[in-house]
Amino acid sequence: MAKGEIVIIDVNCRGCGFCQLFCPKDCITITGDRFSPLGYLLPTFTNQDQCNACGICAWMCPHLAIDVYRYAGKGAAKS
Ligand code: SF4
Ligand code: SF4
Repeated sequence: MAKGEIVIIDVNCRGCGFCQLFCPKDCITITGDRFSPLGYLLPTFTNQDQCNACGICAWMCPHLAIDVYRYAGKGAAKS
């Protein structure tokens, strides 16, 4: 069961793939069919049920393109 979720800020992303590489739960995939306004390949939050809101993807992103939200009770809190 998912413990959180992420939001990818498309306009900030440069398509480096670090988030996909370092997510320990394989929740992020660069599928090859989404592009940023600047033409970079965008990652997609794919394996959503496995996200534990660890925040590693956001820490590894060099362009501050990921926000992580941890579920708290019925809502989500930004971590
Ligand atoms: S918060 Fe952790 S588990 Fe969730 S997508 Fe990011 S790296 Fe993966
Ligand atoms: S680490 Fe950041 S800049 Fe790199 S692909 Fe992921 S969201 Fe985009």
